[in-house]
Amino acid sequence: MKLTVTDLTAGYAKAQVLFGVSLEVSQGELVALLGANGAGKTTLLRTVSGLIRPWGGSVQLDGRDLSGLSAAKRARLGLGHVPEGRQLFPLMSVEENLLLGAAFLAWEGRLESLERIYALFPRLAERRRQLAGTMSGGEQQMLAIGRALMGRPKLLMVDEPSLGLSPKLAEEVLLTLSRVKAEGIGVLLVEQNVALSLEVADRGYVIEHGKCMLSGSAAELAHDEGVQKAYLAL
Ligand code: ATP
Repeated sequence: MKLTVTDLTAGYAKAQVLFGVSLEVSQGELVALLGANGAGKTTLLRTVSGLIRPWGGSVQLDGRDLSGLSAAKRARLGLGHVPEGRQLFPLMSVEENLLLGAAFLAWEGRLESLERIYALFPRLAERRRQLAGTMSGGEQQMLAIGRALMGRPKLLMVDEPSLGLSPKLAEEVLLTLSRVKAEGIGVLLVEQNVALSLEVADRGYVIEHGKCMLSGSAAELAHDEGVQKAYLAL
C-alpha cells in the first residue's frame, strides 16, 4: 500500500487553503502532519478522503488515481478517516457503532472485523453493550478509530485524536495507533500534541500556510530548531 499525494491544491469558495502539498505514506508507516492552527491539515485529510473536491494535483492509492471518486468509493478502496470530533452515534451501543463502520461488508465479514477490533482494543470488547455517549473521552476516541478500522482500510487518517483528553489518555490513544501500524496499515496522523506525535511517528511533514515546509524522520524533526521553537516550546 502506498498513498501518494502530489501537488494538491484545494480551498473553500474562493479561499485557497492548500497551495501544492505533496506527501507519501507507505504500508506500516506512521506519518505525522504538523502545523499551526489553520495551516490546512484538516482540509488536506478531507481532500484525500474525497469530502472536498481538489482544485488541482492528485491523490493516488497504490498508483491508482482517485480523482473524481466519491468518499464512499475511496473508503471501499482502502481509505479510512477518523474525523475531528469523532462523530459517533451517542445513543447507539459500542458494537452498533462499530458495525456501522463496515456496513458495506457482507455480514460474515462484519463479524470477522468485529473480532479483530475486539482483539486490538479489549476495552471495547468489555464495553460492547455500553452506549457510546457514556464512554470516557479516551474510550470514545478508541471507538472512533475502531469503527474506521472495521472497513479494513489500507490507510487510516486520524484527525486530532487527543483533542480534549488528559495527557495520560492522549498517550494511550496514540499508542493504539502504533498497534494499528503493526497490523500493516499506513497511518496519517494530524495532532496538536507535537511532542507526543513525534514519539509515535516514523516520519513527519510540517505544513505552513497550505504548503509543506519541512519533512524528515520523527527524530530529525524533533531535533530541528525551527520545529522546537514553533511547536515544542523549547
Ligand atoms: P486546526 O488544527 O485549527 O484544525 P488545520 O490545519 O486543520 O487547523 P483547516 O481546518 O484545514 O486547518 O483550516 C484551514 C483554513 O481553512 C482555515 O483558515 C479555516 O478557517 C478554513 N476553513 C476550514 N473549513 C472551512 C469551511 N468549511 N469553509 C470555509 N473555510 C474553511
